[in-house]
Amino acid sequence: MIILEIVTTSIALLAFGLLSVLAGLRLRSNKAAALHLFIFAGFGFFLSLFRLMTTLNITALTEITYNQLGELALLAMILAFGALTLNFLNKKKNVLISYWGGAIVILLLWGLFAFNVLTNTYLIPGITYSQVLLALGWVLAVVTAFVALSTEFKKQQSAKHLNRLRYWLTATALMTVSGLVLFISPALFYWAGVFMIIIGSALVGYTVLSYHTPDLNRLVGRALLYCSVTGAIAVIFYLSLALTIIVSRSPLDRINLFFWSVIAAIFLAIITRPLWLISNRVFNRIIFGKKRRDDKQVIRHYSQRVSTALDIQRLADIVIDLMVETLGIEQGVVFVNQRQSGNKVSLHPISSVGVSDLTTGQFSVDSLFIDYFRNGKNFLHQYDIDVLPEFGPLQDEERNWLSATRMELYVPILRNRELVGMLTFGPRSQGTAYYEEDLDLMVALADQAALAMDSARLFERLAVINQEVGSLSEQLAGMDQTKSDFLSIASHELRTPLTHIHGYSRMLLELTEDELQDPAYIKTLIQGIAKGSDRMKSVVDMMFDVTEANVGDLSLFLGPVALAEVIDQAARPFLPALDERRIAFGQNGLKDLPIIEADGTRLVQAFENLMGNAIKYTPDGGLITVEGRSIIMDDVGSAVEIMVADSGIGIDPEFQERIFEKFFRIDDTEHHSTGKTKFKGAGPGLGLTLVKGIAEAHGGKVWVESLGVDEVNFPGSKFFFVIPLHPVTVSQEDKPKQSQIETVHWRSKDLKPPANGDGEK
Ligand code: ADP
Repeated sequence: MIILEIVTTSIALLAFGLLSVLAGLRLRSNKAAALHLFIFAGFGFFLSLFRLMTTLNITALTEITYNQLGELALLAMILAFGALTLNFLNKKKNVLISYWGGAIVILLLWGLFAFNVLTNTYLIPGITYSQVLLALGWVLAVVTAFVALSTEFKKQQSAKHLNRLRYWLTATALMTVSGLVLFISPALFYWAGVFMIIIGSALVGYTVLSYHTPDLNRLVGRALLYCSVTGAIAVIFYLSLALTIIVSRSPLDRINLFFWSVIAAIFLAIITRPLWLISNRVFNRIIFGKKRRDDKQVIRHYSQRVSTALDIQRLADIVIDLMVETLGIEQGVVFVNQRQSGNKVSLHPISSVGVSDLTTGQFSVDSLFIDYFRNGKNFLHQYDIDVLPEFGPLQDEERNWLSATRMELYVPILRNRELVGMLTFGPRSQGTAYYEEDLDLMVALADQAALAMDSARLFERLAVINQEVGSLSEQLAGMDQTKSDFLSIASHELRTPLTHIHGYSRMLLELTEDELQDPAYIKTLIQGIAKGSDRMKSVVDMMFDVTEANVGDLSLFLGPVALAEVIDQAARPFLPALDERRIAFGQNGLKDLPIIEADGTRLVQAFENLMGNAIKYTPDGGLITVEGRSIIMDDVGSAVEIMVADSGIGIDPEFQERIFEKFFRIDDTEHHSTGKTKFKGAGPGLGLTLVKGIAEAHGGKVWVESLGVDEVNFPGSKFFFVIPLHPVTVSQEDKPKQSQIETVHWRSKDLKPPANGDGEK
């Protein structure tokens, strides 16, 4: 027995020595926990040392025996275990201080009795005061540990934390049992009890020093599985052997035994593997209670589904649903990284299960959390953030946000090492941990999600481009329409006068001798040619002006303008037509208008067009009025408003804006010009475009009001032309020379520039 005790205590000595050294090495990085472990292991070391000396009968130097010192170390060690537990569970400082207070009192009392300062008599027969105090110390330590552990168990949800607690629970149980052994039989304690303490301490040391403790449930399950399978096979082997002996009739009949042994060996060789597989499967089902998941099948199914998702939202929904379903997770969230600014990563939740009140998490680009994934790590447990010293410097806001999500696992969605999103998972339904195969699967699924997210992003981008292309092609179609309108109108508008010119000039060429003597006839022919060329010129001029107006290039010759005079000039060419078609013409308020600064010639041109239209679209016997008033215009201030109203056919509200577009005519474009004043006579569709160009060049505007088109009741139309008192100056620099020359030429021929000649601006 002495040998056994020597061996046990020597092992204990080595084990505690090693644990003290390891704890000592950790002192710098994880001070509080390592210090407690160091104290605990140190006492264990002395316990073993003194015990060994007692066993080896080495005489003590003082009156106090090594046996007594050993007991003191034992008491101190077990009390240190209680404190180590409180520290491990991060209990508050005052709890720890009160515990140490109690522990020191017990230690002191024990000392007083053990070293006979106080008489160490028997409290109850066979048990001394010091022994009672040793028991008390033991009870204090393990009860404290159990109470603290059970409150922590209730609080914790995270499987990893719970696993770590289970390790500690096992160690505490071993400590408790070893205490019981000590009080039942001190002799038994020194080889069995101490052994339990060694194992318990090893577990404690392992849990404190290494953060990644293998899943205890699984470890125990696997051990159980291994034992069960081995046991089942052993039974079959045993039965085969027994059967061989029975069948070989007499074990002494060597040949017979040999023969049956060969049969048995072959039989066993054949059934071993299937037997192993079957019993493994059966026990697996019994112990772990679930069917194995077919990961390949899951990935295939998943990729099929995610590949059909063409927007990120839908993709996220599929990802989360599938993961929750396959992995038995109660809570999960998909976040996407909305990189609003260059130095921030912001994780925005877009789909979730079992969680509410989610907020967007803001991380700096060099955050430890983000860096961890950028360095190629595929997942991270909240547990790691809680316990690993490397996450110590994590910023408080980031840490708080992470723990507020109450997630257990983070799986990044990475693309070229950049974080595009994140899958996060809460605890699993059965409270089990995420095992390696689960993590592998999740990482594979996150990779797929990254790919699918890429295509969804591309698809969204494509949709935008498609839309842009759509609107561009609409614009192109519009431009094409304008071009063909131009061609058809230009050819119609120019052909009529050209036909005239052509006809008359041919007639001139083919004059007979008699006709040559008739000047009146020749004059008629030349007048026909002149009329045709005038009409052509006016169409071409109009086209030119509209083109200028269209590019905002209309040149203005500014000067003081009286609008009553402008209207007079504009109406003058129409007086014979008004007379002929019995259309009344009224003017109102024009004389009272202030003098404005404007290009009088352009204004005459604008009102000629408005008047011309009014006459064209008003039936014989109708009424045209021109009214003026002063108004205040937004942005510009004082302005003048001229209204040209007619009692004509009116304009459909649908076209009231479009009539100002170039070449737009409500009538069929096939009609060609039928004269400037004839009822419903068609024009090239340029007049109103030019009116608008002139108004805008002065900083004014033009619009129409009409109840609609009606050729029975003639609701009429009202054109409003608003012009500021002073034009809003437009920079006239960099204007093409040609346009100025052309305009001057057109003006100089038809109308005189204003006498004071402000000149070109
Ligand atoms: P057009 O050379 O055809 O007169 P405009 O640009 O002056 O070209 O006018 C565009 C169209 O607006 C005309 O074809 C006509 O259908 C409509 N319109 C213009 N003025 C009037 C009006 N006073 N009453 C009814 N319709 C009008």
